[in-house]
Amino acid sequence: MSEFDFDVCVVGGGPSGIITAIQLGRAGYSCVILDKKPRDEIGHKNCGDALDAKHVAIISNHMSIAAPSLEFGDARDIITKVTIAANGLKNKITASSPGYQVDRLKYGQRLLDIAVENNVKILDRSTMRGLVVEGDQITGVRYLDSENNNQQIRAKITVDASGIIGSVRKEIPDELKNGVDYHLDKIYTIKSYREIIELKGTDHEFAEEIVLIYDERIPPPGYIWIFSEGPSKLNIGITWVKTDPYPDGKTLKSLYHELLDPYFDPSTYKVLYAGGGTIPMRPNFDSLVFNGAVLVGDAAAVVDPTTFEGHGPALESGRLAAKAIISALEKDSYKTKDLWSYNKDFMNYPGGMHGQSFVAAKFLRSFGVKNIEFLLKRQIINEDELREVFQNPDAKVGKLWIIKKVLQLFPRWDLLFKLRPFVNQIDAVAEIYSKYPVSPDGLNDWIVQRDRILKI
Ligand SMILES: Cc1cc2nc3c(=O)[nH]c(=O)nc-3n(C[C@H](O)[C@H](O)[C@H](O)COP(=O)(O)OP(=O)(O)OC[C@H]3O[C@@H](n4cnc5c(N)ncnc54)[C@H](O)[C@@H]3O)c2cc1C
Repeated sequence: MSEFDFDVCVVGGGPSGIITAIQLGRAGYSCVILDKKPRDEIGHKNCGDALDAKHVAIISNHMSIAAPSLEFGDARDIITKVTIAANGLKNKITASSPGYQVDRLKYGQRLLDIAVENNVKILDRSTMRGLVVEGDQITGVRYLDSENNNQQIRAKITVDASGIIGSVRKEIPDELKNGVDYHLDKIYTIKSYREIIELKGTDHEFAEEIVLIYDERIPPPGYIWIFSEGPSKLNIGITWVKTDPYPDGKTLKSLYHELLDPYFDPSTYKVLYAGGGTIPMRPNFDSLVFNGAVLVGDAAAVVDPTTFEGHGPALESGRLAAKAIISALEKDSYKTKDLWSYNKDFMNYPGGMHGQSFVAAKFLRSFGVKNIEFLLKRQIINEDELREVFQNPDAKVGKLWIIKKVLQLFPRWDLLFKLRPFVNQIDAVAEIYSKYPVSPDGLNDWIVQRDRILKI
């Protein structure tokens, strides 16, 4: 094969692409990021801005990248708790949950500067248009540069970090897909609209808090959210499964107002930013690697299917993908099998957890908001138990606890029959994801077994 221009070409400078590139630059490999945005807009995204502290901690521990902070100006608030509510704020549960409300642009720009310090080349205002494929190997991309000229980059490995659109993924020839289905069905996408608002002359009551509210008017797992962005600022929004029709010809924006105006009268605030976007809501694709290419972030559908958090998983997928890419570059071999460890690592965490979360999203849909409200009203689960569930997924609950919960369900024991299959399926999904194959040979069998437990 002739000379390559770069070891790695990363398409997209969002969180997943930047983290991949920083590690490759630090390891001494040549790496280019291609992004269609101008340099000073890379990182910006219409977003709820919530970023879970556990993903940030992994990045700080493994890559020594400082967490977003109020001092750097790339955090707008430091979050300490999460509240889940149903049909208003009366029936709710609050649990401690450390995190950040980030300024996506400032945080993204800080990461971009770190990439540049580590010799990563940035080609901004450059849009990837197609793939270079030689034999059974992906060997680079074709793109339109900032002057509208057609260009080509040849790279040993191409990384799709282009977000939900999956610019690289869409172009991968079927014969290189190892039998995996990469179609992102609309039923597994979420439409979302949000505004960042500033209350006039008053502080809000949600200091350091993020709140998700299920509402009967939104088909689950859709919800409205209220996230604190400092004493007087809030990020508030709505999510809606793309294939669920809006009632009576309404729009997402009119539904946003119908559902959120009762909490915040528009005459009492000024809108600082407004906008929306689309989020994937399925477990990640069954393999994220190809001969000469890798998927990360939204392009790989690595978003939590219940909460729709994708920022933290995007960082983590970038970190794990880079680890596998570096090992393939060391061996000078870039086939699916050489990159496979990324699949295994990601399925271990957080892929398996997202599989479980997908079960929860489907469960919420059939369970309904009225029943969620009932469980919250009866305080069936308290804060300590919720924390135990979140922080220690292997926790075994005692018989007395179960008896107590069953009695609390009176007179709605029918809910027990709805909850039991859900709990069983969650366990089965955890087990199947823990058995993800160690090489491509076992993939098709694994998909068959997974489909028996969880059909995607
Ligand atoms: C309204 C909304 C609210 C959200 N709220 C939250 C939240 O509160 N918390 C959370 O964790 N997640 C949230 N998410 C999800 C989160 O924003 C994404 O999961 C995350 O940004 C994914 O990162 P990424 O690097 O994969 O892609 P992106 O951040 O989408 O970055 C993709 C990059 O690729 C570039 N690109 C795309 N196509 C091309 C091309 N052909 N050529 C060159 N460049 C290209 C784009 O310009 C962009 O810079 C939200 C999403 C939306 C839409």
